[in-house]
Amino acid sequence: MRIHTSGRKVRLFNPRNTRPNYLTDVRFRDTIQIADVEVFPIRASGGVSPKMALGTMPTRPALLVRINDRSGCFGWGEVWANFPPRANLHKAHIIDDVIAAHLKDFTYTDPREVLDALRAELSIFFLHVGQAQVFEHILAGIDAALWDLTLRHTGISFAAFMKLSEPSALSYATSINAEDLETLIPHHADLGQTYFKLKVGFAEHDSVEIVRRAAMLCPRGSRIMVDSNQSWTLAEAKSSLQAIEGFDPFFAEEALPADAPIAAWEELAKATRIPLAGGENIYSIDHFLTMTRAGMRVLQPDVAKWGGVSGALDLADAVPEDVLIWPHFMGTAIGQLAALSISAAIGQASVCEVDVNENALRTRLCGSVITIQDGKVALPSEPGLVRPPDIEILTEYLERVY
Ligand SMILES: [Mg+2]
Repeated sequence: MRIHTSGRKVRLFNPRNTRPNYLTDVRFRDTIQIADVEVFPIRASGGVSPKMALGTMPTRPALLVRINDRSGCFGWGEVWANFPPRANLHKAHIIDDVIAAHLKDFTYTDPREVLDALRAELSIFFLHVGQAQVFEHILAGIDAALWDLTLRHTGISFAAFMKLSEPSALSYATSINAEDLETLIPHHADLGQTYFKLKVGFAEHDSVEIVRRAAMLCPRGSRIMVDSNQSWTLAEAKSSLQAIEGFDPFFAEEALPADAPIAAWEELAKATRIPLAGGENIYSIDHFLTMTRAGMRVLQPDVAKWGGVSGALDLADAVPEDVLIWPHFMGTAIGQLAALSISAAIGQASVCEVDVNENALRTRLCGSVITIQDGKVALPSEPGLVRPPDIEILTEYLERVY
């Protein structure tokens, strides 16, 4: 069975013929000296918890960083901190205790210079303490903050800097809880969104049933995706994907653990018609490229977990033309805008994830900057990458670092 056989057709994996070839050719020109880095561990309560195979999020922890330069300019970034519950405090401590001294007085032109230097100075330290990936999360947030700082210092918006003809990004609706399908799918369809990602792989919910209910609710021409958060074995992934193939999902995300043997990924890719997706737990361009060779068709770098903006744009320049980059994201408006900016830079073939669940850190912290209209979110027109948070509102959510 194939759903949505009429209406607007979305071609699978069309070559990115609209993709600009200057993703990594744009050049920064200002020389900037970093003064310091500040950390803002925050937490929102009272929203709606997305339920995923990994666990629930009873509150929304997050970690923002602000990098200040010697001219009085600043830039904001976000470090992934959704799990465990106090990851925001843990990473704030690491930035304060280990990273800050290395950033102080560093002079750069391109944010990549800062990341390269930090990796050269600190990779062995984080390897030794067993937190190499935590280091990558921090570097990702620092990279976004440096893009924001550098663009603001130069007096140019991201869209203008990247010479985007369309200063907005396509978005898709994600993390729709099983009990909210009937309300949230129609609501997001009304916002013009045409891709809907469902969390599957729970013991208490039948994945096929969730997909079937969602398929009934999706408007013609729209597509469903599923995310099982690395919870399946190869055998489970094969049978689970086979059971939903009739619904023609656009992709299956993290159908296997990111570190599953390459042979298992190859076997799964050959065993299913559903394109495989992943990336939120992949930490290098080389690893992403290995996964594309194993059959992964949709790459999902998370701007707050690996590489920041620089890494995602470098990845976009490195991947084969028939592989899609759809940024992963779940967090505050700061990281969300950075993720949307990556999609906007890549062009119409890239659609960015936006959580459907109530979260004040996405909808209130930076005003109404994340507003979906005709399926798109407009990028800010002012200088910088992101819209800085309202400091009074930020203070409401601030956690004490102790
Ligand atoms: Mg996911």
